Amino acid sequence: ATPTALLTGSGRGAQLGILIRGPQVLEDTRTIDTIVLDKTGTITSGRLSVSGVEVLGRYGSDELLRLAGAVEAASEHPIGAAIAARTSALPAVTAFTSAPGGGVRGTVEGLDVVVGRTGWLHEHGILPGAAESGVFGVAESAGATAVWVAVDGAVAGVVSLTDTVKDGSARAVRQLKELGLRPILLTGDNAAAAARVAAEVGIPPADVRAGVLPEGKVAVIRALQQEGATVAMAGDGVNDAPALAQADLGIAMGSGTDVAIEAADITVMGSSLEQVAQAVRLSRRTLATIK
Ligand code: ADP
Ligand code: MG
Repeated sequence: ATPTALLTGSGRGAQLGILIRGPQVLEDTRTIDTIVLDKTGTITSGRLSVSGVEVLGRYGSDELLRLAGAVEAASEHPIGAAIAARTSALPAVTAFTSAPGGGVRGTVEGLDVVVGRTGWLHEHGILPGAAESGVFGVAESAGATAVWVAVDGAVAGVVSLTDTVKDGSARAVRQLKELGLRPILLTGDNAAAAARVAAEVGIPPADVRAGVLPEGKVAVIRALQQEGATVAMAGDGVNDAPALAQADLGIAMGSGTDVAIEAADITVMGSSLEQVAQAVRLSRRTLATIK
């Protein structure tokens, strides 16, 4: 390997906002045949907004959003920012706890507020009834990300959130396929929301892995590797970091969390999926120049 060519490659990469950790990374881009794409923040903007509120208890929708927002303000998940943004003056939260891929809990004005997925409610001994679960299911089947809100141990409502696919994500998926890669969508979100995004960017239903808990993301990568695939993974979240490390090639979004960037081999500063395709193309081309 001539150092000049390497420098040229990484210099060009830096110009394009693509940071490559070391020379071995170029070699790795040659062999990958599968690319696992995190949904929220990688294929989609990651900037969610509240698209609906279903009231299921004694609190009206504004009050429900205020209580949930107070707890979510302490979360680093995009769901948290979306719910917190709905109320201008949020009360303080104490005894805050959260679980990645689960939800949040805290005390607001003396009330115990739990927000999150069904499993997170179960962990706190809250079991939604059949009618309530029906409401939750309807929200999800519309393609939204739905989260429960419970107050003092009782279900209070369901908040729906939607996210938009980034400009260029569909084009990027096409480019990744042209580079000979099989794109797979991986998310902790529900199946319907995942299917909606997959259809929009051209990922076949068979290559969608939804409802995957953070520790499950690593298992998905490992299973693909055991099937003989050489796997790249692109992600941005705290939850994605172990999967980025497990992948043969980890790619982080520059807008992502520090943990994800530290675990990755490549960081794309512009955070677009097209830059991910560009990173693979550039690395392979640089390698060809060196050889
Ligand atoms: P993704 O893979 O899309 O980034 P995550 O694994 O981070 O998803 O989250 C999966 C699910 O966990 C969310 O769709 C939501 O149901 C729940 N969840 C995670 N964080 C929160 C939060 N701060 N508030 C409410 N629900 C949450
Ligand atoms: Mg994400």
